[in-house]
Amino acid sequence: MLNLSTLLEESARTYPDRDALVLGPTRLTYSQVDAAANQVANLLVDRGIEPGDKVALMCPNLPYFSIVYYGILMAGAVVVPLNVLLKAREVAYHLDDSDAKALFAFEGTPELPIGTEAKTGFDRVDACRELFVITADPATPSPIADTETFAQAVAGQPTSFETVATDADDTAVILYTSGTTGQPKGAELRHRNMRDNALATKALFGCDETRPDTYLCVLPLFHSFGQTVIQNGGFAFGGTVVVLPRFEPGPVIETMLKESVTVFAGVPTMYWGLLGALENGTEVETLAKNLRMAISGGAALPVEIHREVEKRLGVTIAEGYGLSETSPVASFAPYGEPPRPGSIGTPIPGVSMKLIDPASWSEIEWSADAIGEIAIKGHNVMKGYYRREKATAEVIDADGWFRTGDLARRDADGFYYIVDRSKDLIIRGGFNVYPREVEEVLVTHPDVSLAAVVGVPHESHGEEIKAFVILEPGSTLATADLVAWAKTKMASYKYPRLVEFVASLPMTATGKILKRELTRTSTTAAATP
Ligand code: AMP
Repeated sequence: MLNLSTLLEESARTYPDRDALVLGPTRLTYSQVDAAANQVANLLVDRGIEPGDKVALMCPNLPYFSIVYYGILMAGAVVVPLNVLLKAREVAYHLDDSDAKALFAFEGTPELPIGTEAKTGFDRVDACRELFVITADPATPSPIADTETFAQAVAGQPTSFETVATDADDTAVILYTSGTTGQPKGAELRHRNMRDNALATKALFGCDETRPDTYLCVLPLFHSFGQTVIQNGGFAFGGTVVVLPRFEPGPVIETMLKESVTVFAGVPTMYWGLLGALENGTEVETLAKNLRMAISGGAALPVEIHREVEKRLGVTIAEGYGLSETSPVASFAPYGEPPRPGSIGTPIPGVSMKLIDPASWSEIEWSADAIGEIAIKGHNVMKGYYRREKATAEVIDADGWFRTGDLARRDADGFYYIVDRSKDLIIRGGFNVYPREVEEVLVTHPDVSLAAVVGVPHESHGEEIKAFVILEPGSTLATADLVAWAKTKMASYKYPRLVEFVASLPMTATGKILKRELTRTSTTAAATP
């Protein structure tokens, strides 16, 4: 038997009184979290949930997320975490697509597919017959008529449960990917995929049981990064996971100081946000003294921001790379070695990576400059997309290699460097332009705080390069000045002819810049030389 829930159960046996989850003044020990998860498992079995059934979980970063997550696993069921920002019709889509039999939803999640309109067109959504509304205060009644609260449902359930024996190859979690194209698809991840990826963090982070870590979890738990790297990885080694429901630089710094956080993981926009808030020298020193690991992933960390954070915070940042489909970590900066800004490191133990030709899927001939699509094979690769054989065959070949859609180079030491997503490649007048390269240059301008570059339709060039730029506070830079400056820094086919200054950039709930949104809102560019 290898149930992902054993990560919690083993730590509850070894460190029963150690804090597992912290939220503000609330502190729950491992034995308390384990007991509460057992109650959830008992509840599910009582309500007829069987091993292999799908149970959806729509909850922000609160201890309830982890309690319900492990409870579902203990019952042998499959967790389907949902983004808390989904609208009613989208929730209906996910419940239908995943065949969910039950839904745990936080009272604050804005929309539930109640009423026929939201459910129209989804045949299987009514199979989701149980709704448990999680209220922040257990005494609060359900805000939705004729529904039970989580607290009412688990009241009286025994705090012990014999975990259902699952096979390592059974599905543990279905993660819906951000779906850059088409409808979101559910990546089916086995118990061993998720468990091995969490355990791999031990070596990657230099974890040591005698020196338990305190993790800050501000990455959303419904996404693979927060779920594996922080929640499952943290629980695997008896760490304390301090949850914060949303990223705000001030409260993040305050919490890191108060809880003496030793491991922080964030997406690049979070590091960018922290830069603006790190003013007080003493605080920075204390932060740096406590922090053992700072991790970046989920999107490319611009070299300029990487260096600036390291300089200001006095800690090194280890960059990793992966996808929901790879549980997620595939490569990581080797532990103990000086980081190489711009690189996503080397494949983690048990995982292989290679660069392929996107058309033929065959490995490209290596040279330091050769760009190919990253393909991944190993313990982390998903079973497939749930109920989508065709889509699965489009990304996993007969030998088990998963193609990522990300373009990269590899240096002579085996370190990978993401060039860009193949979907984001801009083709201007027949020349390939990688937005990331342009963004890296733009952020070196002293007045530029953050930049996102996209291709917009153009009459004669096919596409034109457009930069959306957030300026440093107080800057009086004009767009024409930035274009003129960029022209001196980049080859003529690369520099952005179009620049728009914006106050903010659209982001996903995980903090990734939504390039599609920027492209959509940009109209066709007029002809330019
Ligand atoms: P998701 O499935 O939502 O986790 O998104 C996975 C995608 O995030 C990958 O295909 C990459 O395009 C991107 N990504 C993740 N980590 C990195 C990184 N360190 N550098 C650049 N892109 C990254």
